[in-house]
Amino acid sequence: MLRFGRAERDLIALGIAVSAILMFLGTGSSVLPQIARSWMGKGSAPDMLLVNALLLNIALIIFGWRRYAELTSEIAERRKAEERARELAETDPLTACLNRRSIGPATEALLTRAEERGEAVAFLMVDLDNFKLINDLNGHNCGDEVLRRTAERLRASLPEGGLLSRLGGDEFACAIGYDPRQPERADQIVCELIDAVAQPMKVDETPIEVTVSVGIAATIETLTDSEGKVDSARLMHKADIAMYHAKKRGRNGYSWYEPQLETDLRYRSELEAGIRRGVQNGEFVPYYEQQVDIASGELVGFEMLARWHSPDRGVVGPDIFIPVAEEIGLIAPLSEQLIGQAFDDALEWDPALTLSVNISPYQLRDPWFAQKILKLLVQHGFPAERLEIEITESCLHENIGLVFSMITSLRNQGVKISLDDFGTGYSSLSQLRALPFDRLKIDRSFVSELKDARGGTKLVNAIVSLGEGLDMPITAEGIEDAAILEALQKMGPLKGQGYHYGMPEDATSVHRRLTAMGRLVANAHDSDENDREAIGHEATEAALQRGRG
Ligand code: C2E
Ligand code: CA
Ligand code: CA
Repeated sequence: MLRFGRAERDLIALGIAVSAILMFLGTGSSVLPQIARSWMGKGSAPDMLLVNALLLNIALIIFGWRRYAELTSEIAERRKAEERARELAETDPLTACLNRRSIGPATEALLTRAEERGEAVAFLMVDLDNFKLINDLNGHNCGDEVLRRTAERLRASLPEGGLLSRLGGDEFACAIGYDPRQPERADQIVCELIDAVAQPMKVDETPIEVTVSVGIAATIETLTDSEGKVDSARLMHKADIAMYHAKKRGRNGYSWYEPQLETDLRYRSELEAGIRRGVQNGEFVPYYEQQVDIASGELVGFEMLARWHSPDRGVVGPDIFIPVAEEIGLIAPLSEQLIGQAFDDALEWDPALTLSVNISPYQLRDPWFAQKILKLLVQHGFPAERLEIEITESCLHENIGLVFSMITSLRNQGVKISLDDFGTGYSSLSQLRALPFDRLKIDRSFVSELKDARGGTKLVNAIVSLGEGLDMPITAEGIEDAAILEALQKMGPLKGQGYHYGMPEDATSVHRRLTAMGRLVANAHDSDENDREAIGHEATEAALQRGRG
């Protein structure tokens, strides 16, 4: 408002100057000749009133003209400032490329131009692979420099007319026009771009490794999925989906958008939402697999295996939901819920029966893990001596010192620790000797080879001798039939588990089984209703296993 008021005043000044000029012309035409004549001594003195009016006129003209000149320069400056503000609003200050706000309209303009010229447009979503690490290790100044140089490298690899934008953080986007008769051109540009970024880089003498993952969506392949007009928002969305896929496939590479990726993503996000709800609603339940002394056939304990009784999906196995729960950070609460339920169930069993639970490597990253387990034991009044924790070899690659101290503090309380899926990872013999495991579980992939009478025994035999040498008892997993059992029985005093002894079953079925064996604690109850429910669950478990096979 203030600025507008000033502009108005400036216009008035201009008006005054113009009218002063007109008046000057009017008065001046009669007064000036009079003055000239009087100076030359040819006429009488000019009328003083008119002379004063003329002088006033001149003053007004000078004032008006100066104001007008100021006004013009002010307007020019204002234009420049507005231009600069617009530039600032559209540019990323760190890298001087377009920003998130401006890439959309710029891409729209590119799309229109490309359509007129019969060109295709490819949109690339470019994400640095290890930027967080670069920042954490070398500081934010170095991070900023890496972003600037990456932007330079990207800019240099783009063909003429290509757009480059930093969307924020370590995420860039590019849009390029190309000849649709040469669809391989887009691939070529992306490969060059990925190579350019990956060239060696040094910031303050520190070598920095920079790579990017790229997702591409182009107007030509996008038109085929019958959505009508392609706009910049849709292109960006598709390139984004493709970029996530590129990241998942391994870094330093690129992926094209495919409709299937979007379907997968939707499935995945529904699965995540379902798991979140399931944890809240207690839909995850423990099932139990029998563990048996293979020489005597006596039941010695159970391994708890998680199942999801999903209202939409039915009974879901852990290979579907455990990895997702790990990724979305829900594995610890989920596992603690299950372990708590399993403690309550197992308190009704013969106290001689052990309970094994599987623990994810993610849980072992928590320095409070051992305390959490001990707290659960106390809360549920479950004896530590009956609990066995199964960890896989992959846990050993993480922070071995932390794992060691957790294992030690759990063992000090009486909990036993087994190394699960032994043989599938890469634990070294020195790790095995250093870490105080109570038991090795031979992975079922080795055990299943015992089916083949001609060979297959060598590896299992070797693992059994290793266990003997290290003084670690052994459990064989995946005993599917009598032939395998027989082969194992010849190898020594082992524990075993597998479908040969029955499918994993829910708490009610286990309760029923133990009732029949007379192996419940004295006051445990049983009812016909439980039995009926149990038969139902057994049927779903059988269906689940069939589905997997
Ligand atoms: P695992 O610890 O190796 O568990 C044994 C798996 O083998 C179970 O699959 C079991 O149903 C299956 N199995 C048992 N006997 C046989 C057999 O004779 N033949 C064959 N082919 N398979 C047999 P399940 O229940 O699908 O569990 C898969 C994996 O999920 C488990 O492998 C374990 O690593 C993980 N898991 C299960 N429950 C939990 C849990 O509560 N927490 C964590 N972190 N992982 C769990
Ligand atoms: Ca296990
Ligand atoms: Ca296993």
